[in-house]
Amino acid sequence: MGSVQIVTTVLAAAITAVAVWLAVRAVLKMVAVIRLGQPAPERFADKGTRAKTMLVETAGHTRMLRWGVVGAAHWFVMVGFIVLSLLVLEAYFEVVSPTGGLPLIGGLAVYGLVTEVIAVLGTVGIGVLIAIRVRNRPTRPGGRSRFTGSTMWQGYFVEAVVLAVLVMGFVIRGFKVATDHFEYPAWATPVSHAVGALLPAWPAGVSVAALIKIAISMTWLIVIALNVTMGVAWHRFLAFFNIFFKREPARPAGSGLGPLRPMTSNGKPLDFEEADPEKDQFGVAQVEQFTWKGLLDFSTCTECGRCQSQCPAWNTGKPLSPKLLVLSLRDHAYAKAPYLLAGGGKDLTGEEKATAAQLAHLDVLTLAEAEKPLIGDAEAGGVIDPDVLWSCTTCGACVEQCPVDIEHVDHIVDMRRYQVLIESSFPSEAGVMLRNLENKGNPWGAPQNTREDWTKGLGFEVPRVGEVDDFEYLFWVGCAGAFEDRAKKTTRAVATLLNEAGVSFAILGEGETCSGDPARRIGNEFVFQMLAQQNVETLNEAFEGREQAKRKIVATCPHCFNTLGNEYGQLGGEFEVVHHTQLLAHLVSTGRLTPVQPVDGGVTYHDPCYLGRHNRVFAAPREVLGSALNGGGRADADLIEMPRNSERSFCCGAGGARMWMEEKIGKRINVDRVEEAMSTGARTVAVGCPFCSTMLNDGVNGKGAGEQVEVVDVASVLLRSVRPDTAPGGKETAPTAG
Ligand code: SF4
Ligand code: SF4
Repeated sequence: MGSVQIVTTVLAAAITAVAVWLAVRAVLKMVAVIRLGQPAPERFADKGTRAKTMLVETAGHTRMLRWGVVGAAHWFVMVGFIVLSLLVLEAYFEVVSPTGGLPLIGGLAVYGLVTEVIAVLGTVGIGVLIAIRVRNRPTRPGGRSRFTGSTMWQGYFVEAVVLAVLVMGFVIRGFKVATDHFEYPAWATPVSHAVGALLPAWPAGVSVAALIKIAISMTWLIVIALNVTMGVAWHRFLAFFNIFFKREPARPAGSGLGPLRPMTSNGKPLDFEEADPEKDQFGVAQVEQFTWKGLLDFSTCTECGRCQSQCPAWNTGKPLSPKLLVLSLRDHAYAKAPYLLAGGGKDLTGEEKATAAQLAHLDVLTLAEAEKPLIGDAEAGGVIDPDVLWSCTTCGACVEQCPVDIEHVDHIVDMRRYQVLIESSFPSEAGVMLRNLENKGNPWGAPQNTREDWTKGLGFEVPRVGEVDDFEYLFWVGCAGAFEDRAKKTTRAVATLLNEAGVSFAILGEGETCSGDPARRIGNEFVFQMLAQQNVETLNEAFEGREQAKRKIVATCPHCFNTLGNEYGQLGGEFEVVHHTQLLAHLVSTGRLTPVQPVDGGVTYHDPCYLGRHNRVFAAPREVLGSALNGGGRADADLIEMPRNSERSFCCGAGGARMWMEEKIGKRINVDRVEEAMSTGARTVAVGCPFCSTMLNDGVNGKGAGEQVEVVDVASVLLRSVRPDTAPGGKETAPTAG
């Protein structure tokens, strides 16, 4: 070993020792913080599916690749990082000896080729990512950037390190070429040979370049170890765990959405018959009351801003950004952690758990952080402003887009639960809806004995469950479908089409109450459970003696469809639930309904969040509309898609119980969506949800465009095509009485 190699070896060993010590300390700190969360035993079930999903999502970059160029560039950088780690390891042999290399695989032409290709593509990939970050920088002129609120220096630092390490890899190889110590052929390593042709034959060059590469890599490790909230770097390690422990690992590719988690206390679902607010946790009032998976979520955020770019609240000028919400919770959790780890914290009655001696060593900033209310406005020094919390429509766009499967909607609803159930603190206008749910069983407060009024004048009998036993589908009408004028037209259209196709169905009539969706999304789990238990009992009775496959329900409201199909299982109600567009698509494709009249003027389709993103029903409504547009082959027209459609559809603004809250901040979400729909030039905006219908109709009418554009349910579009002479209800833009 020459004198240069002695120096490079000592320096490499010293900086590596410091970096590894700091990194181990940082990992232990992060584990300690994440372990402060509540138990979530369900996250350890089904490990095989979890492992498979994690491998598919990371190796296949299923979420990132939807972003085209960024996704491809990130894939090469990810693979480059893994290979880079091998090359950094190799550098330790090179600081010791200029001819050093990895044992076993070092020297194999295939290793030289693979590392060369990946290093080249990784260099291109990181160059693309840097260019995208610069182009989308928050300070650019005009427009909001997805990076607004992200810690930009951290992103640039991480990307610069990756680029520098990749470049140093070529420099090391170049010195080996120049000194004739390179074992790989030119065909396998053309870039390294080209670099070598530019470098002098300096024998110590390999070891010096290897030391620089190690120093850059270890500087990166030291910086991230000193910044445990630097998600843009730590996600490289944490993302694997976060995806492995995602809420619904078996769900079809790409979505971390699914049924809302039941309210839990100490890892167990809460039973309201026995629950005691002084002993059981009702929602989340302190950051440590999130589960450990919640704290892992916050730690994993890469600050990429994809969630923010899709959020309807953020895009219409509300204070809510799902990214900023996650970052606020993360920063608060880590700042409060020393207090919690010292034994601090409030019990469920609000009493401090720690003694003064236990907290004596903490600085004032930590103690001040511990006193911050989780929800509170600027004056109260809250971590999350109430306007942020109540702006969410639970549309799921953030969860859908997040490349590391962060579960924003669960966290938002958990915080709402505490505010509603314990603090009774929520937008006052929603109180009427909650009272109506409790007293009348529907959000509008309509008399229960008018639930069947929509059946009047249909020209055929709509059977009730109990009057007939052999029905195939139980038609779940829903509160909107029974009481809201525009939605009643959809209900009548669906019933007419089912009757036309000879489908045997029955309704519950006055036996139906609200599914509980608005109560659950606003955070009132108590009212949700009350309504849901009643419905589960009624439905179980209606289907008594039937096997699972024959407990079929068709619903027109995606919120009911989602709640009955995905969430009633938590209360013992297992049913086969379809949305009416799915059943209608089936009836058309099997020839039981035949569209004959083409729809003219152009049709665009608005995906309801709870049908599309939350349940991945994208094709069926489009198939129905396609068949109606073409009127049984008499025309040749295509559905006109809006720029934001399918997974990236833009919310109408009504979900998450926002339907019953005033929208006082920013631009109205429904107006934004209506402008997009109108920009297509289509005269018909088809919807598959009564709430979307109300919101978009209001938007169209607000723009004074009611004469040019009609908002109408998919079922009504089909009915006009199947039976152009008898479509009941007519134009849905103008409300009519029952
Ligand atoms: S669920 Fe929708 S509205 Fe709520 S934070 Fe996510 S993207 Fe925004
Ligand atoms: S929450 Fe997910 S999508 Fe949003 S910034 Fe963080 S990593 Fe990106």
